[in-house]
Amino acid sequence: MENALWNGKLYHATEIANNYSLEKEIRKASGRKELYCPDPECDHKILRYCHGEIKEAFFAHLNNESCDYANFDKENTKTMRTVRRLIYDKFKSKGYNVQPERMTIIKKSCSHQYKPIVPDV
Ligand SMILES: [Zn+2]
Repeated sequence: MENALWNGKLYHATEIANNYSLEKEIRKASGRKELYCPDPECDHKILRYCHGEIKEAFFAHLNNESCDYANFDKENTKTMRTVRRLIYDKFKSKGYNVQPERMTIIKKSCSHQYKPIVPDV
């Protein structure tokens, strides 16, 4: 998972991984169980921050049995994440505001689903 809430603010794992001092703070917050899943219907909101030697940075639930974001993340392959990151960086470099891995509401059915990348409106 790319997104997590800390003190009410949304953070992206990729951006944390590129910022040494922020990553230090996020690791501490993760240890204190202060990182939360942004999904409003998530039953087990506590996330941990993971960034090892080989794997790229990501967030994961301590317990993810009933979360739509976690389910989206399971189908979110490495290729999809890489492509999404490239598109995200491209839009950002052109000055567009886009958000990774965001929940969108489907008006017709009043349900929601996660999208790899959406424009920030
Ligand atoms: Zn969740």
